[in-house]
Amino acid sequence: MKIIVFAENQDGNFKKSTLEAVSYAAQIASLNNGTVAAVSIGNVGSEKLAELASVGADCIYTYSQDIYASFSGEAYSKALSHAAKSFGAELIIVSNTYSGKMIAPRTAAQLSAGIVSGVISFPETATGFKVRRTVFSGKAFADVAINTSIKVLAITPNSFTITENAKAGAIENMDAGIGASDVKTKTTEVNRATGKIVLTEAELVVSGGRGLKGPENWHLIENLADILGAATACSKPVSDMHWRSHEEHVGQTGITIKPNLYIAIGISGAIQHLAGVSSSKVIVAINKDPEAPFFKAADYGIVGDAFEVLPLITDAAKAFKSQQA
Ligand SMILES: Cc1cc2nc3c(=O)[nH]c(=O)nc-3n(C[C@H](O)[C@H](O)[C@H](O)COP(=O)(O)OP(=O)(O)OC[C@H]3O[C@@H](n4cnc5c(N)ncnc54)[C@H](O)[C@@H]3O)c2cc1C
Repeated sequence: MKIIVFAENQDGNFKKSTLEAVSYAAQIASLNNGTVAAVSIGNVGSEKLAELASVGADCIYTYSQDIYASFSGEAYSKALSHAAKSFGAELIIVSNTYSGKMIAPRTAAQLSAGIVSGVISFPETATGFKVRRTVFSGKAFADVAINTSIKVLAITPNSFTITENAKAGAIENMDAGIGASDVKTKTTEVNRATGKIVLTEAELVVSGGRGLKGPENWHLIENLADILGAATACSKPVSDMHWRSHEEHVGQTGITIKPNLYIAIGISGAIQHLAGVSSSKVIVAINKDPEAPFFKAADYGIVGDAFEVLPLITDAAKAFKSQQA
């Protein structure tokens, strides 16, 4: 099976989700005597491209023309379709990130391919081609069969491991012949989340809700996040009130995340919030109300005032880290 993977980069660095996607493709290829081509769009240095080879890319197609300097769903999907046709790909894998969500459906339309997004399993190929995805904001699973000859999968970040699997990774410079008339929309400005760690890729997340009382108290969340090496997140009212930027809002109307550890502080645990975080591997809730719904969803809970508990946990984490150093 010939597999194409969209290798998303940020400022020339491949995202963790990209390496997961290439590893995922390489594992499918190893079962099907297949080959994997990673597709890098934009300017990326050759030492970074080598990372794709180290996790299983047999070859790397690069599209680095000026037209890709600012992100455009149309241009990127045309480049990916061009790569798929050049390679003769039967399977196209994209990470289900913001950019991936713009590119995957367009690519599927251009290739008349069936598409499944939010994929959390390897394909079952004994009878046809079937994958598992999450539905209803992560509250249920659906097994979906794809019947088209070309298939597109948008896989959920943090669902698959990165596996060292060194391959040749021969680099081929490509040109999809895309001109300005192919670009209907383009990104003119990007306002990055203030957190140092990308929320969708974070393994640890410290999140605050209305119980924190106001933005002036967010240093408590940031201090703990800094010590743990975690990303920061928040509930919807917190971003609605502009205490934190919208990029940190998790839940049904915000980002869906799947970290190894989610610490929810002063968040009630409304169903719309849980929709975005309930797939976290371990959930810790800190709330002064013992009846807060979050405690039903949490693996561990602390009933207490965030303003007393947070400094204690932060000091304990600091002490633990200094022992480890
Ligand atoms: C269509 C729709 C979509 C929505 N989408 C989302 C979404 O994507 N994400 C989202 O988060 N919400 C969403 N909501 C809103 C959601 O229903 C809740 O209103 C929201 O999650 C509540 O936010 P909160 O827990 O921060 O605030 P609150 O409900 O006000 O809860 C604050 C919590 O803090 C606790 N607390 C107070 N003081 C302290 C203290 N000193 N120490 C410790 N704990 C304390 C309280 O006991 C309480 O449990 C949506 C709602 C609708 C209708």
